[in-house]
Amino acid sequence: MADDISKRIARFIEPFRVSPGSSVKLARDFDPGFKAGIERKKDGADLLKEGIELLTEYQARLAAQDTYGVLVVLQALDAAGKDGTIRHVMSGVNPQGVRVESFKVPSALELDQDFLRRYQERLPSRGQIGIFNRSHYEEVLVVRVHPENLLRQKLPAETREHHVWSRRYDAINDWERYLSENGFRIVKLFLNLSREEQRVRFLRRIDLPDHNWKFSAHDVEERQSWDAYQEAFSEMFSHTSTAWAPWYVIPADRKWFARTAAAAVIANALIEIDPQYPRLGDEALQGLQKAKLELEAEAPSGVAVDPSDPGESEGNESNGDTVVPAAPAEPAAQKQA
Ligand code: AMP
Ligand code: MG
Repeated sequence: MADDISKRIARFIEPFRVSPGSSVKLARDFDPGFKAGIERKKDGADLLKEGIELLTEYQARLAAQDTYGVLVVLQALDAAGKDGTIRHVMSGVNPQGVRVESFKVPSALELDQDFLRRYQERLPSRGQIGIFNRSHYEEVLVVRVHPENLLRQKLPAETREHHVWSRRYDAINDWERYLSENGFRIVKLFLNLSREEQRVRFLRRIDLPDHNWKFSAHDVEERQSWDAYQEAFSEMFSHTSTAWAPWYVIPADRKWFARTAAAAVIANALIEIDPQYPRLGDEALQGLQKAKLELEAEAPSGVAVDPSDPGESEGNESNGDTVVPAAPAEPAAQKQA
C-alpha cells in the first residue's frame, strides 16, 4: 500500500521538478494553470487530504527519530498563496514539530552581516520541519531586481561589482549541500502565478473589506517589475536546482491545486527520508520489563493489572485484562486510626 502511494506521489510531482543543470525560461517551461489532468476541485481535495494525512504520520516519525530535519523554502510573487499553502499543508501536523519563519526587509543589524547569516540563524533543528516564508532566495530575487538593496548591504566594492549573482548562486548551492550532508533535507517550492491571476487577486483584496488588510500599494508597484522578476526566477532555477536540493515549480493559478502539489512534494521528501520510530536495544528493553513488573505489582485490587497489554488477553474473554482478585481483608489505607 505505502509503496503504491509513494509511487503515485513521485509520478504526480515529476512535472514540477526543475532538472538540475537545465536552462529554464519560466514562461516557456511552466504553465501556472496546469492541473495534471485533475478536472475537479473535489478530486484535488481528496488528494490534498491524503497528502496531509501522510505528512501528519511522517512528521510524528521525523520528530521521534530526531535525526533528520526538513527545510521547506517557499518563494513566490505577491498573492500567489504562500500563507494559505502553509496553513493548509501543515494543518495536520503537531505544532511543536514545525517552525515557520518569515523574512522581510533586512534590519540594520542584518545589513551589517554576511547575506546568509539571518537565514542560518533561523534554520530548523533535527526532528523539525522548518518553513521559510520567503528565504535566502530573496538575495538573488528582490535584491537583483532592485539593485539599491545590494547597495544597502555595504559589500566591499570588488565583491559587489564582479559576478555577484553567480557567486551568490554558488554560495547558496554550497550552503545547501552542507546542510543536506548534515541531515537537513531542503524542499524548494516556487508558487508560479500568472500575471492575469495576480491582477484578479489584487482586485479581490480591494473589493472585499475583510481582505483589504492584505492589499498593499507596494505590491502593485512591484507588478511593474514583472518581467524582471520572471527573468530573475528563470536565472535562479537555472543555477540553483541541484541534485541535493532541486526546485519544484508549482502551478499556482488554482489555489487548491497549488496546495495539493505542495503537500505532495513535501510528503515525497519525507517518504524518501523514511524516518522510523526509535527501537530500544536489549538492555533498555530489559529495563522496560523490570519497570512493567513493578508497576503491575502496584495495581489496586479489582482492576486490570495492565489494561494496555495485548499479551494479557488470553484466557480472559470479558475485557481482555488480567484482574487482581479483590482481597477480602485488605485494610483501607485512608482510614488509619
Ligand atoms: P511580505 O512577505 O509580503 O510580508 O513582504 C515582505 C517584503 O520583504 C517583500 O516586499 C520582500 O521583497 C521584502 N524582502 C524580503 N527579503 C528581502 C531582502 N533580503 N532584501 C530586501 N527585501 C526583502
Ligand atoms: Mg506582501
